[in-house]
Amino acid sequence: MSSNTERSLVLIKPDAVRRGLLGEVLSRFERKGLVVEALELRTMDAALADQHYADHVDKPFYPPLKEFMTSGPLAALILSGDEVIEVVRAMIGSTDGRKAAAGTIRGDFSLSNRENLVHASDSPESAKREIDLWFPNR
Ligand code: ADP
Ligand code: MG
Repeated sequence: MSSNTERSLVLIKPDAVRRGLLGEVLSRFERKGLVVEALELRTMDAALADQHYADHVDKPFYPPLKEFMTSGPLAALILSGDEVIEVVRAMIGSTDGRKAAAGTIRGDFSLSNRENLVHASDSPESAKREIDLWFPNR
């Protein structure tokens, strides 16, 4: 069986921290067998938000998204493991918590398409870009 060890940049968003779901979300990733390579509680500032969401800055949902993402501390993580990028995207579920499948993090804990608990890199290219942005020394 071939394996493909990758890294993904994951943010456990301010809504999850506020709601006391940090441990629950982190625990799901740990129990899956993923490795926590880096973990920091950080508060996103406006400049970091604009860089992190460079693809979204011109979209109508961006101003309230930025307000939300800078509203309080979040946990920034590097997770590693076999096919971790795809594995984590499957574990978090689709963007809109109202539509995300039960059993996924968003499906189980979010009723919002904005406050949806977790960000995760969606490709090897975005993982590299986002890890360089959040953890320039890693
Ligand atoms: P994902 O986080 O699932 O990759 P996107 O990259 O499309 O989703 O969007 C980034 C984030 O912007 C989402 O996680 C969500 O917080 C927010 N968002 C996306 N679409 C909307 C929308 N239509 N209305 C409000 N917020 C949105
Ligand atoms: Mg995305």
